[in-house]
Amino acid sequence: MLGAVGQRRVRFPPVGGDWVRNPPALGRPGDERVGWVVAEVVESSPSVAPEPTADETPREPRVVIVGGGFGGLYAAKALREQPVSVTIVDRRNHHLFQPLLYQVASAALSPADIASPIRAILRKQANTTVLLAEVIAIDAAAREVVLDDGTRQPYDYLVLAAGTSHAYFGHDEWEPLAPGLKSLEDALEIRRRVLRAFEEAERELNPAEREALLTFVVVGGGPTGVELAGSIAEISRFTLARDFDHIDPTKARVILMEGADRLLLTFPEKLGKKAATYLKRLGVQVRTGAMVTGIDPQGVLLGEERIPARTVLWAAGVRASPLAKTLGVELDRAGRVVIGPDLSVPGHPEIFVIGDLAAGKDQRGKPLPGTAPVAIQQGHWAAANIVRAVRGELTRSFRYKDRGNMATVGRNVAVADIKGLKLTGFIAWLAWAVVHVFNLIGYKNRVLVTLQWIWAYVTFQRGARLITEEPDARVAPPASA
Ligand SMILES: Cc1cc2nc3c(=O)[nH]c(=O)nc-3n(C[C@H](O)[C@H](O)[C@H](O)COP(=O)(O)OP(=O)(O)OC[C@H]3O[C@@H](n4cnc5c(N)ncnc54)[C@H](O)[C@@H]3O)c2cc1C
Repeated sequence: MLGAVGQRRVRFPPVGGDWVRNPPALGRPGDERVGWVVAEVVESSPSVAPEPTADETPREPRVVIVGGGFGGLYAAKALREQPVSVTIVDRRNHHLFQPLLYQVASAALSPADIASPIRAILRKQANTTVLLAEVIAIDAAAREVVLDDGTRQPYDYLVLAAGTSHAYFGHDEWEPLAPGLKSLEDALEIRRRVLRAFEEAERELNPAEREALLTFVVVGGGPTGVELAGSIAEISRFTLARDFDHIDPTKARVILMEGADRLLLTFPEKLGKKAATYLKRLGVQVRTGAMVTGIDPQGVLLGEERIPARTVLWAAGVRASPLAKTLGVELDRAGRVVIGPDLSVPGHPEIFVIGDLAAGKDQRGKPLPGTAPVAIQQGHWAAANIVRAVRGELTRSFRYKDRGNMATVGRNVAVADIKGLKLTGFIAWLAWAVVHVFNLIGYKNRVLVTLQWIWAYVTFQRGARLITEEPDARVAPPASA
């Protein structure tokens, strides 16, 4: 519930115990304080008292953060030098800059250019411990996070930022045939499949099979699908154009399929249309209103129509991390946790859910999109609310600063919607490039990515055109393929 503007007396709920269990910093049971309450203040301030240590001295509240993506990492950074003890748990050792994943998938960048070890990023944070582990459940009643080895991490405050994975709309059997793009492994698998398709086509004598090898289908016309389709078209039209003897890579078919009637549904219509125009200019066949009904090793089915294709990529949907279910609280249809205005879970003021895993709303009641800026801002906000709660202050409702939406379509064109200002073409691409480089973690990555983009821009070449990986067991097509 929102508080009114003005001065308000705040009574801390009687949580019981002596003052060691509930030190003054957190407010004593029955304590009354007078404070300024602004419009966005939420009345339900967490009243979490840390357990005493063996010698009965108060210890710092424990904050456990699940996920070192955008939300979790920025929450951890914001808790630097705060009077809390932070543990950040991730099943991977690196923070990944997902917006540039498609560039790894399309051989423009190498994995290390867009990922950094979480331990290295946080090494100067004395109050923070990094754990490489998979979280398998949250025991909200015991206030513990359960790890894959069966051990438990107790918390006073939890920040859950475990993100999402691919959703195949009830067709999980499509996953090995049409990998999605979410992790570095996915990107390398897509790179391997795309580059290998050209190599196999070079050796293929059967024209129909060669055509299928040179047909690339991307399912899903959101930003990831648009970026993937555009960059595969560029590889074939420019990068590989003169590298083969028996095939003409420029004749490769790249088909982008979208079930809705236009691309980029989260952008204004004008920008969706512009993106389609840019893609067509690159030779991409854009098919809107195209509902995929089947995917098999031979290609894609659209009702009665079959499109023979050996490479199918999935960019059509996401589902929430299964950790959400283990909380035992209200979820939305996509399995995301329904959160309150201050980002905490109703009934659990000590649990904050942020980023892609949260179904939250902005200050105008509009659902928040699953984007990096939302996760980053929520990370900062959740950390600030934890600090407020630790001090015995009220938490505050999240206020989202919408700085816009961008998608790139090729080496020098993009579309951008920045606070109502609609940019297209080179100027949008420049804005996109600056924003992405600026937000990369680490100076080294910023410099490396900028240099590689300049090189690629001038030469049309892609520096990471290597087929090094074995087929990924998770996503390799069945042996019969
Ligand atoms: C290909 C792609 C392109 C994108 N492009 C853009 C873009 O251009 N602009 C934009 O704003 N947004 C973009 N996004 C969306 C953006 O990346 C997400 O909104 C953002 O990453 C969400 O941050 P998060 O912290 O909620 O989750 P994530 O960044 O996904 O982080 C989740 C973290 O939790 C860890 N984790 C998950 N489950 C567990 C577990 N059980 N145990 C331990 N650790 C776990 C994961 O390893 C990961 O590190 C893109 C996303 C993708 C996939």
